Amino acid sequence: MARMMRDFYQRASSERSWMIESTWCGTCRLHDLGLENPVEFEEEGRVFVQGRCRICGQTTMAEIVDQRKSAERH
Ligand SMILES: [Zn+2]
Repeated sequence: MARMMRDFYQRASSERSWMIESTWCGTCRLHDLGLENPVEFEEEGRVFVQGRCRICGQTTMAEIVDQRKSAERH
């Protein structure tokens, strides 16, 4: 599967901080622990942000769901 890197830092800072804080770590099994070194990429038309959990250091990934875009599609 081809990944297309996107520039996470082109987003508004409020949007970035929301994405960095609103996470789910599958290793800690806890929400909102925060991400370090976030990177954004697109894969098969879906956008993800990936980074390291601030608590355990494991890689975590979250899909960015753009409500506006999914509404336009229907
Ligand atoms: Zn963790």
